[in-house]
Amino acid sequence: MADETRGAAPCPSTNVAKRVVIVGGGYAGTTCAVTLGRRLKGRDDVEILLIEPDPCQQALSELDMVAVGPPRPQFCELWHPAVFRKLPVRVCYNRVTAIHPEDHTVTVGDGQIVPYWRLVVASGAVPVVPPIPGLRERTITMWSVEDAQELQRQGEAAFKHAAKLSSAEERRRTLSFTVVGGGATGVEIVGTMGQLLPKRLTEAGLDAADLQVNLVEGRTSILYDLPEPQRAKAVHKLESMGVTVHTGSMVDRVEDDAIVLASGARIDSAVLVWCGGAKADPHAAEWGFEMDASKRLVTEIDLKALGFQDAYVIGDVASFRNPSKNNILPMLAQMAIQQGPHVAMNLLRELDGRPTTPFLPHMRGEFVSVGPSWGVGWMYGMNLTGLPAIIMKRITYVKYWLQVGGIPLAWKRTREMLAMQR
Ligand SMILES: Cc1cc2nc3c(=O)[nH]c(=O)nc-3n(C[C@H](O)[C@H](O)[C@H](O)COP(=O)(O)OP(=O)(O)OC[C@H]3O[C@@H](n4cnc5c(N)ncnc54)[C@H](O)[C@@H]3O)c2cc1C
Repeated sequence: MADETRGAAPCPSTNVAKRVVIVGGGYAGTTCAVTLGRRLKGRDDVEILLIEPDPCQQALSELDMVAVGPPRPQFCELWHPAVFRKLPVRVCYNRVTAIHPEDHTVTVGDGQIVPYWRLVVASGAVPVVPPIPGLRERTITMWSVEDAQELQRQGEAAFKHAAKLSSAEERRRTLSFTVVGGGATGVEIVGTMGQLLPKRLTEAGLDAADLQVNLVEGRTSILYDLPEPQRAKAVHKLESMGVTVHTGSMVDRVEDDAIVLASGARIDSAVLVWCGGAKADPHAAEWGFEMDASKRLVTEIDLKALGFQDAYVIGDVASFRNPSKNNILPMLAQMAIQQGPHVAMNLLRELDGRPTTPFLPHMRGEFVSVGPSWGVGWMYGMNLTGLPAIIMKRITYVKYWLQVGGIPLAWKRTREMLAMQR
C-alpha cells in the first residue's frame, strides 16, 4: 500500500456544503463524474471529488487491440486531465485507504480525512490468480497497459532467443504462447496473438511455422456466455489461425516453459497469460458494507449500498440483482457505463429533494473479438459473426468516447483506431 500512495498529492481541501466523493475513475466512476459534472456546471454548493490513483483510465475492453502490438498499448489509456478539463470535477490522484460510512468520511493516502455528503464506490475488480503451483511466478495477467507491455516484452525476448537457436524443436518451445481462460478476455487476447504473432515473426525474418499458440479452458467449451453456434464459430476461427484450443481440463501446475493439465497433458508455454477470472476489489471488503458470497458489495435497487442512505456502489465491485432476470449483473463495462450515469441522475434528484429511481440494466448485446478484424456475438437476440460483429464491438468503444469526451475525443480516437486496424 505504501508504494501505491507514494508521491500522490493530498486532496485539495475546500469548504463546500455538499461533497460527492467518487472512489475510482474506471468506466463506472468516470461516467458518473462526467454526467454529474456536465449537469452541475455553475453551481458552487456542490463539489464533485473523484479520487483515483491513476491519471489515465485503463480502458480494459480495448486491451485486445494492443496486447501484442502495434507498439502503442497506451492507446487504451484515457487521460483524466483531458476528460475533466472543462468540467467542475476535482480529481485527486491518490488512493482511498479506508471508508468510514458511519462518520461519512474517507481516508485518503496515508491519513487525510475527507468528509462526504454522498459517496460513490466504483473501485472495480482485480484478476484472480489461484494458488496453482508455479503460476503466480510465471504468468502475466491482462489487466492494464503495463500488463500488455509486459506481454510484448516477453514476446520480443522469445523472438530474440529463438533467432539464436539452431534446433527447430527448441525454437518451437521458445516460441510457445499460452493463454489460460476461455472467457471473453482470454479469447480476445489469444485471437490477437493468433492473427498478429505470425506477421511479427515473419517481419523479424523468423519462420512462423515455429510458433505455437494455445488456448486452455477448464470447462468443456470456451465463451460460455455466448450462444452455442457462436462458440463453435469462435473455435473454428481460432483453429484457422493456428491456435490450438484445449478444453475440459484444469491447469494442475506450471513449470518453467510448460503447463501441466490435470489430465496429464503437457503444453509448451514459454509465455503464459492468465485470464482465469476476476474478483471485486478486495479492499472494498474492509469498508463496512454488506457483501455477497463473492465479496461484491450488495446494492439496493437504486444502486445505494444496502442499508446506507448516503453511499452508492457501481461497476464491477457492485453486486446488483437484476429484478427482471433475478441474476447478479456480470462484471462488464457495458453495465458500469449504465450505472455511472444512473447514479449521477439519482444524485441530481437527491439534490432537488426528489426520490431516487431504480436502476434498470439493458443488456443489448455482447461481442468478442477473435483477432483484430473478426468477431462473434449477438445483439437484440440476433447472432452476428465476422466483420459485422467486430464493427459492432468497435462501435461500443466510439460510443464510450462520445459519452465521456464528446465528438472531439470520439473523432480523435476513432481515427487512431482505424489507423491501427490497417
Ligand atoms: C482485458 C479485458 C477486456 C474486457 N473487455 C470487455 C468488453 O469487451 N466489454 C465489456 O463490457 N467489458 C469488458 N471487460 C470488463 C470491463 O473492463 C469491466 O467490467 C470494467 O472495467 C468495470 O468498470 P469499473 O469502473 O467497475 O472498474 P475499473 O474500470 O476496473 O475501474 C476501477 C478503478 O478504481 C480505481 N481504484 C481501485 N481501488 C481504489 C481505491 N482504493 N481508491 C481509489 N481508486 C481506486 C482503479 O485504479 C481503477 O481505475 C474487460 C476486462 C478486461 C480485463
